[in-house]
Amino acid sequence: YCVLGIESSCDETGVALVQVTDQRLPVLLAHALYSQIEMHQAYGGVVPELASRDHIRRVLPLTTEVMSASGKSLSDVDVVAFTRGPGLAGALLVGAGVACALGAALGKPVLGVHHLEGHLLSPFLSNDPPEFPFVALLVSGGHTQLMRVDGVGCYQVLGETIDDAAGEAFDKSAKLLGLGYPGGSALSELAEMGNSAAYKLPRPLLHSGDLDFSFAGLKTAVMVQAKKCAMAQGCAVEALPHVVLADLASSTQAAIVEVLVKKSLAALMRTQLKRLVVAGGVGANRDLRAQLNAECKKRQVCVHYPELHLCTDNGAMIAMAAAMRLQSGIQIPSEVYAFDVKPRWPLDAIQAVDA
Ligand code: ATP
Ligand code: MG
Ligand code: FE
Repeated sequence: YCVLGIESSCDETGVALVQVTDQRLPVLLAHALYSQIEMHQAYGGVVPELASRDHIRRVLPLTTEVMSASGKSLSDVDVVAFTRGPGLAGALLVGAGVACALGAALGKPVLGVHHLEGHLLSPFLSNDPPEFPFVALLVSGGHTQLMRVDGVGCYQVLGETIDDAAGEAFDKSAKLLGLGYPGGSALSELAEMGNSAAYKLPRPLLHSGDLDFSFAGLKTAVMVQAKKCAMAQGCAVEALPHVVLADLASSTQAAIVEVLVKKSLAALMRTQLKRLVVAGGVGANRDLRAQLNAECKKRQVCVHYPELHLCTDNGAMIAMAAAMRLQSGIQIPSEVYAFDVKPRWPLDAIQAVDA
């Protein structure tokens, strides 16, 4: 059977179709994505109302695109999945509304999916899917968590950020270096041209003994350092010479990545697990991947990532999470079209499936 997935939690509209068979992992048949980033760039961040309206404009054309790319028709859809939360309430309501309307029109059940479960299970769409159990490093724009994952729905948070997320640290640092919004990937590209030891920046909570993170202070330290450089050069931060900006970017990335890597290794030690799964937008970071690969190799730990283009938000991960829940025997609640969304929703609040 086929599962249609709809993602609309923030500023990406994603639609995907996966096929579920009895034994093997679900297979992605097609997916389509529209990013609203350009529209929000003028405001330096996501404008919720504009996001909701744009999801309305994009979701049906994307659905048509996915159906034709997969060679299937809507009558082949057996379950409609959507992102139920966490995310922007208005944006979530668009996906939920469309999913329920489609479900009602097709006479098919509708399933609300946790956005972070989507990120977490996205590596199962790769050519090198993990096996349970594993430690997960979930590093996205809004979340930074280490988790012990024993199966679909069995998520235990081992540690998480007490303030900013890792993606937020990338984005906020990028913004103050004049790299635009969201500047995570721009900062990491610039960082490759710089010297990561040029500036000494803090590694927050590195020796805290627990698995929590804190990135709010780092952003302030980057700002202070950037202003110092600007003062010395007699210019504005954004007008700093390219080499200085590259060194600042490189030093910032090194601080974030070091903490993520060391805490991931600590989580592996603590759980005695030999498998690490990285998920979320920051999982696309080249430096993070290189360091995790090197450290895990030394320890005979296997690392798994989502494909690069599926690290950030997309419909495929939502269809996949729904499909894996269905495969593990979840019963879809009967009040199918009485939808609600959960703008705030901790991942360890969701239940495992008792088949
Ligand atoms: P959440 O899933 O927590 O609700 P989100 O959906 O906004 O947040 P994602 O789409 O998973 O987050 O990831 C977006 C984040 O990933 C942004 O902060 C972005 O800057 C960051 N990011 C993307 N590519 C890279 C990269 N190469 N290096 C560092 N950060 C990156
Ligand atoms: Mg986004
Ligand atoms: Fe996300």
